[in-house]
Amino acid sequence: MVILRYNRLNRCYKTERIDLMNYEKLHHLQQLLADQQLDVAYLSDPMTIKYLTGFGSDPVERVLALLVFADQDPFLFGPALEVEAIKGTGWPYPVYGYLDHEAPFKMIADQVQKRIANPTKWGAELGFLTVTRLRALEEQFPAAHFDFDLTPAIERMRLIKSADEIEKLNEAGKWADFAFRVGFDAVKVGQTEQAVAAELEYALKKHGIMQMSFDTLIQAGPHAAEPHGATSSRQIENNQLVLFDLGTIYDGYISDASRTVAVGALNDQQKDIYQVCLEAQLTAQTAAKPGMTAAELDKVARDVIEKAGYGEYFIHRLGHGMGMSEHEFPSIMEGNDMQLEPGMCFSIEPGIYIPGVAGVRIEDCVHITEDGCLPFTHTSKELQVVG
Ligand code: MN
Ligand code: MN
Repeated sequence: MVILRYNRLNRCYKTERIDLMNYEKLHHLQQLLADQQLDVAYLSDPMTIKYLTGFGSDPVERVLALLVFADQDPFLFGPALEVEAIKGTGWPYPVYGYLDHEAPFKMIADQVQKRIANPTKWGAELGFLTVTRLRALEEQFPAAHFDFDLTPAIERMRLIKSADEIEKLNEAGKWADFAFRVGFDAVKVGQTEQAVAAELEYALKKHGIMQMSFDTLIQAGPHAAEPHGATSSRQIENNQLVLFDLGTIYDGYISDASRTVAVGALNDQQKDIYQVCLEAQLTAQTAAKPGMTAAELDKVARDVIEKAGYGEYFIHRLGHGMGMSEHEFPSIMEGNDMQLEPGMCFSIEPGIYIPGVAGVRIEDCVHITEDGCLPFTHTSKELQVVG
């Protein structure tokens, strides 16, 4: 089925083929409610709602909630202006809309009580329930307890990506590769970091990719030694390394990748830190496989950099989990004994930052397969001379 739908997370209309969701993740959550003997779950993180229902929207100040029961159909509740978009996703369960002047929590309560007369044990994402909204729910259900936090269970579910999630991550990765091509072409001596970022984002937007997963980072020369610095009005100079870190959002899933390129000829120190960082990245990406721990993988890359004498300049973890956001699990760092499993997605991004000199970071996000890992981005990691 082909429809035109407005995607508020990506803020664009697009024609898309709707693959009917199988709602497997939602059924998994229903099983969890049964196991925990919870009467009802109130889910309100827009990313969780997108994850479980396929409907992605940022409701801003309005109420958007997914109500889930162990042995009854779930329902979505949201602004009336979103109801058609929800139906357009193929959502097969009830959806109720409210107008701006109506009382959303009274309406939610009416629908819950049609299913369970007096629900007392509630699960919720406590980090996403404001005090005001919690009080509004408590007013409707004075005997209820809202102390079961569903966030850890949702995070655990989101840790292992399904085949259709991997497909979206691959698509987001393709657009990051496209952005690198445009960005590398835009690098010229005298050009500002901001102008390069603007060129690649403009090219993406012309292709309907309206949102980056984070602010595009272009840092030239010594500026790249500040891993958390921002893209600035500094001009790119000859004989510099220029660091790119960027990502796009595709159907609610992100990409995140870094490349560092050379403008003109490099000196031996610049070449050396590049090659060491590259070796660390490639060694870790080759080593990543099921069964090893996140800490072991971090150490694989760190050992390469330490052996080359740059250990003190690698000042962050090797990687972070990613999927719908770049703040997921597993965290690839010292002390994390979580074993890698097929379907886990994370970045492998060693960096060497020498203050006042240069910064190099090379990053691909990957997903763990049965016997190794595959990256979402494919831009060459060999040192490229541009400009
Ligand atoms: Mn990055
Ligand atoms: Mn990253």
